[in-house]
Amino acid sequence: MRIILFGPPGAGKGTQAKLIEKEFGIPQLSTGEMFRAAIRNETPLGKKVKVIMDEGKLVPDDTVVDLVEEALDKPEFEKGYILDGFPRTVPQADAFDSLLKKHGKKLVAFLSLEVPEEELMRRILSRGEGRSDDTPEKVKTRLEVYNDETAPVLNYYKKKGLYKAIDGIGTVDEIYQRIANVLK
Ligand code: AMP
Repeated sequence: MRIILFGPPGAGKGTQAKLIEKEFGIPQLSTGEMFRAAIRNETPLGKKVKVIMDEGKLVPDDTVVDLVEEALDKPEFEKGYILDGFPRTVPQADAFDSLLKKHGKKLVAFLSLEVPEEELMRRILSRGEGRSDDTPEKVKTRLEVYNDETAPVLNYYKKKGLYKAIDGIGTVDEIYQRIANVLK
């Protein structure tokens, strides 16, 4: 089962992806976590993306697509995966589409976690994960980037008939149940 978990920053993608991973036994692939690991490990990729991430901007599409393509080649992702934080632009969605076609694979759902903007800011500023991009100014940039560059991805999958809206307001369990109902 191949799923995209989509939504603005602070919608709860990471939390829900981990729950789906645990309950359905499908591994999660989070581009944001991969970049944070690269920064922690001071790899060449980490050095390249640090400033961009710290500013709350998007890493260039070709860098992200190369990373995802390489990761998805691993045997653990052969039977399926949950994408968290990718695709985040229409060119990334196009590249992912080509990748799926190349491997003869299909996406089963594009789950969109829907949360009003005021609530997103509140959640991010109270989550206390110590992320350098979780400050009010950076969150503002990330939300603007989301509206300008990422939100159009939603229409891309609507047109493909894969879009499923998930009400992202409620407890972690309530939201997870909504997702589980759609996936079952
Ligand atoms: P996230 O953990 O998904 O909130 O991602 C944190 C940061 O990583 C984002 O603000 C971007 O700078 C970068 N990033 C993660 N995924 C992508 C992506 N698919 N395209 C571009 N930048 C990304």
